[in-house]
Amino acid sequence: MIAAIRGTHDILPGQVERWQLVERVAAELCARYGYVEVRTPVIEREELFSKGTGETTDIVQKEMYSFTDKGGDRITLRPEATPSMVRAYVEHSLEHALPSTKLYSMGPMFRYERPQKGRYRQFHQLDVEVFGLNDPAVDAEVIDLAWSLIEALQILQAELVINSVGCAECRPKFQEALLAALGDDLPKLCGDCQRRAKTNPLRIYDCKVPADQPIIDRLPHSVDYLCEACATHFAAVKGHLDGWQIPWRVSHRLVRGLDYYTRTTFEILGQTLGAQNALLGGGRYDGLVKSLGGPDRTGIGFAAGLERLVLALPEGAGAEPPPRAFVAAIGDDGRAEALKILRELRRAGVSTQMELEARSIKAQMKRADRLAARVTIIVGGDELARGEITLRDMRASEQRAVSRASVVDAVRELLTRSAG
Ligand code: AMP
Repeated sequence: MIAAIRGTHDILPGQVERWQLVERVAAELCARYGYVEVRTPVIEREELFSKGTGETTDIVQKEMYSFTDKGGDRITLRPEATPSMVRAYVEHSLEHALPSTKLYSMGPMFRYERPQKGRYRQFHQLDVEVFGLNDPAVDAEVIDLAWSLIEALQILQAELVINSVGCAECRPKFQEALLAALGDDLPKLCGDCQRRAKTNPLRIYDCKVPADQPIIDRLPHSVDYLCEACATHFAAVKGHLDGWQIPWRVSHRLVRGLDYYTRTTFEILGQTLGAQNALLGGGRYDGLVKSLGGPDRTGIGFAAGLERLVLALPEGAGAEPPPRAFVAAIGDDGRAEALKILRELRRAGVSTQMELEARSIKAQMKRADRLAARVTIIVGGDELARGEITLRDMRASEQRAVSRASVVDAVRELLTRSAG
């Protein structure tokens, strides 16, 4: 037996309905908020991520699935969607081609991480991006979409945390203050933090090593170093969230692991997920489009982990409705007519099943029970000779004869009645 690769999984019946629910709700909400779908390839040039995600990030340094293809090009299985979305936006001049540049995408991502609950090597994201809009109302709308998604999925225990990491003007001052505050404590931090201090000091706030936490807790807060424009922007974002009664908390630890974030950052944390508790995360990345060779356009977005949304859904969510009708046949004549009725019902829009291999009527009725059919149509015998079939209401355990010609209407009528 050849087993699935560690950190990947099959999504089987029983679970797949929960996935379909999440995907459906996400697509509906995005459309309602004016986002259009974009689908980008799973493979991209490696440099898209080393430039876009950032050389100093864990993703690029440790987690990418990269290889040289047969033509000698360096290729990467995308570890996140944003660089691909930016590439597509720039490559197809979407700012001119589309009436609005509010985009979303859903699909698999790949990171060579240590698998655990809520963390996989192939996982799936909903990715939402807005290009070229700067008003704080845009930040708030993106956060509202994220929050509304969590609400629509009835994930009850969730918390929104926000922060602002400033811009090219004020961020360096914060970084300086951070390094000054670290001072003599720097050698006491873990190896990763020492490396981060040299390459991208803000990422020290991402550190999860327990021994480092007391030192990190004493470090300065980015919100205290914002320039006037960034402070005004952040205050406006919070004002809009308050106006919509979306509850938030500022977390100064929320600097996110990626290089390209500016100003607003946010996450929604699920309380039932254990260690991997981030349902989604995102923020503003005003420098990214330009740094990838595009026009000087701002960006903001988020990525939600579909596995984590599926895990956090209430129990029983997305359960598949049972087939509505089942056709059972008696004898060869019955079978021939039953096959016709099967197709008629399906073409009339009724979910219908039948045993295609000839079985005893007892076995067929057992099957109808197992499938939880609402109505069974029994075809054959004397009734068929009279131009009739039997309609069995499986819930009431009652049956009656109806004319062959009226079978579709009779089934529909029974299903409508029982749905009401
Ligand atoms: P990131 O792209 O790292 O900001 O992650 C955005 C969201 O994707 C997270 O909040 C998670 O829900 C999800 N996510 C990230 N990495 C993984 C992973 N390895 N396995 C499952 N979900 C993930």
